[in-house]
Amino acid sequence: MDIEARVTGFIEENCYFATNPATRQTVVIDPGDDAPQLLARLRELGATVVAYLLTHGHVDHLTALAPLSAACPAPIYIHARDAAWCFSAQNNLPGFYDAPDKPKAPLVLVKEGDVFELAGARWSVIDTPGHTPGGICWRLEDDRALFTGDTLFRGTAGRTDLPGGDPRALTRSLHKLAALPDPLAVYPGHGDPTTLGHEKQHNYFMRF
Ligand SMILES: [Zn+2]
Ligand SMILES: [Zn+2]
Repeated sequence: MDIEARVTGFIEENCYFATNPATRQTVVIDPGDDAPQLLARLRELGATVVAYLLTHGHVDHLTALAPLSAACPAPIYIHARDAAWCFSAQNNLPGFYDAPDKPKAPLVLVKEGDVFELAGARWSVIDTPGHTPGGICWRLEDDRALFTGDTLFRGTAGRTDLPGGDPRALTRSLHKLAALPDPLAVYPGHGDPTTLGHEKQHNYFMRF
C-alpha cells in the first residue's frame, strides 16, 4: 500500500491515505479538516475510497468526514465508545473547530481484535483507550504499519486531561503496543512518523 500523510486544520492533524497501487482503492484514516484539499488530492490520485477509519472521536480528526463521505461514499469504522459522543454538539474546539456534521455514510462499530479486508489488505483493531474511551490503533498487517491516532506520538503520548481521558488506561494501552514488533512503522495523529522500536528505546512513555 502507498501511504501518504496530509496535514489538516489548525492543530495540524495527520490524515492518511493508504492506496492500493494496483486498484487505486484507498482507505482514508482520520479525515480531520480541509475537505476540499483532501478531495482534490483523492481525485489527483484517481482514488476510490472504500473505507474511512477513525482512531478516535476528537473533532480535529473528523471534521472533514461528512463532506468527504458525501462526495466519496464509504462506510465509517469507529469504536462504539467514541461513536457515542463524537457527533454531538459538545465535540468542538471553540475558535478552531465547530462541532462536526454527522455523516450520512453508515457507521461500522468496531472492537478489539476485529479484522477487516479493505483495499486488498488486512486491517486489525487494537483497543487503546486512555486519550479517549474509544481510542483504537489500526494495524495494517501486511505493511507492518500502525496508525496510532493520539495514543502514541514520536517522542510522547496522548494527553489524558480531556473529557473521558484516563492516564492509567493510556499506560495499559502503551504497554499493549510495546508488545508489538519493533519494525512496525508508526503513523501518529500529529507530528512525524516513527517506528515502534525507536519509541520503545527513546520515548519516556514507552519505558516501563
Ligand atoms: Zn485526540
Ligand atoms: Zn488530535
